[in-house]
Amino acid sequence: MLLQTEGLTKSFGGLTAVDQVDFGIEKGKITAIIGPNGAGKSTFFNLISGFHPPSQGKIVYNGTDITKMKSYEIAKLGIARTFQTTHLFEQSTVLENVIIGHRLRTKSGLFDAIFRTPRLKREEAACREKASEVIEFVGLKDVENQLVSDISQEAKKRTAFALALATDPEIVFLDEPAAGVNPEETDGLADLMRKMVDKGITVCIIEHKMQMIMSLADKIMVLNYGKKIAEGTPEEIRNNKAVIQAYLGG
Ligand code: ADP
Ligand code: MG
Repeated sequence: MLLQTEGLTKSFGGLTAVDQVDFGIEKGKITAIIGPNGAGKSTFFNLISGFHPPSQGKIVYNGTDITKMKSYEIAKLGIARTFQTTHLFEQSTVLENVIIGHRLRTKSGLFDAIFRTPRLKREEAACREKASEVIEFVGLKDVENQLVSDISQEAKKRTAFALALATDPEIVFLDEPAAGVNPEETDGLADLMRKMVDKGITVCIIEHKMQMIMSLADKIMVLNYGKKIAEGTPEEIRNNKAVIQAYLGG
């Protein structure tokens, strides 16, 4: 497994948002996490990406225990993510957003920034090049100079993908990437995720759109009230009694 959680748990006061979850993500595959609202899906991502420290349990990535690492350390290991609500600068262009996002993750310090050292200039050039490359990859070349406030919801989703991809990740975690886009656009985003996998990137996605998940995922984990209630292939999940109960039985 590329990434493995063992007994992963997160409590917020009296509420256990993620409860003793053992789960493995296989390299080169598309893994989906589904479950009703409030099931703990986003919290699971927040734990893996280091945005919240786990209350208990362990996260192992590529043989390294990352449980106690900070989010920037985890990002450096090749783990990228998007957020359920996209955090973009609406009054900047698509290209600027990707460059800014990428710059925030590069190495120059204040010294380099003040004195505009050759190192800084090299990094800036590399950033621009990388931003162009990922914008092309996600299919946004045509709108790269438009303000984010002027582009479609789907293009905003693609911009968020570009931000994640600019760090050259080995694995990306996408939190509801197709929320708020129409069925045709959803197909386009699914194709883009397949393209990521073809490029060698492992994809883990939270999504409510069942049709999309069933045709896209190699493996699905179902969370309910923080607990893993099922995992398996789309076919196995479709016929799982506990899953049907969680969605229909309330
Ligand atoms: P999902 O993404 O599956 O809809 P979340 O992971 O966002 O669910 O939330 C799981 C539960 O944890 C919810 O009851 C939510 O209110 C709670 N929760 C999430 N983040 C926090 C937080 N930072 N502080 C307190 N409670 C939280
Ligand atoms: Mg969520």
